[in-house]
Amino acid sequence: MKHLSFIGTRLVSAPRSAAGLALDFLLPLRCLCCEAKVASRDGLCPRCWQNMPFIERPWCQRLGIPFTYDVGEGAWSPRAIASPPVFDRLRSVAFYDGPARELVLALKFSRRRELARSMGRWMSRSGSEFLDRDSLIVPVPLHWLRLLSRRFNQSADLARSVAAHCGGQFEPEILKRRKRTRQQVGLSAKDRRKNVRSAFAVDAARKGHLQGRHVVLVDDVMTTGSTISACTRVLLAAGASSVDVLTFALADPSVRSGNGSLSV
Ligand SMILES: [Zn+2]
Repeated sequence: MKHLSFIGTRLVSAPRSAAGLALDFLLPLRCLCCEAKVASRDGLCPRCWQNMPFIERPWCQRLGIPFTYDVGEGAWSPRAIASPPVFDRLRSVAFYDGPARELVLALKFSRRRELARSMGRWMSRSGSEFLDRDSLIVPVPLHWLRLLSRRFNQSADLARSVAAHCGGQFEPEILKRRKRTRQQVGLSAKDRRKNVRSAFAVDAARKGHLQGRHVVLVDDVMTTGSTISACTRVLLAAGASSVDVLTFALADPSVRSGNGSLSV
């Protein structure tokens, strides 16, 4: 399955310009994740592909967490039943580990913004149940001060790529981060919620775009969900009809057990 998908990645590559083809001939193409040579642009080598901790069906209808065995279409995980999320559905491409983690870090900190093209393509497949041309594709925003220092928002790059693949409407300005939050790394779940409370707001001038619309909220990594939940609440309160969430990676270690699947 993974191998077939790997081949499929090659087959659906965008047409290359003459200059691009000439460059491919002169410079050996490298795997997105490592230095291995690959046959075509924007792909992974077979080793990285095999090591990518993809999240695959069957999964929880609400949280997108894989089940160890098929419990039927539309099933909810015990976690979703015990504590239903404020958003409708969450889908992620892979667990935050191995090559998936390397891609997220390379995009965010090494400014390898070209990675967003492939990562967004994979995300659009993972979110195919809820992505369509009527979706508003909204990235989790950075505070403007952080945007100044980092120079770009990696989630906006991913959202732009997702929108390009599904035909949805990219809306990077509708959601604002009005409070500069501390880095979430190392905080407990409770402190994370406290950290992001009232940190987000909908831009007053763009509120009309949101009325009755289906929103797909895009982020690079989902951890405990406190940021995503805060954004969802703000979007729903401002008039969105529904919010689904699409992230490249799922970092919450509590959902992984043994082979990476959730026991049911
Ligand atoms: Zn590789």
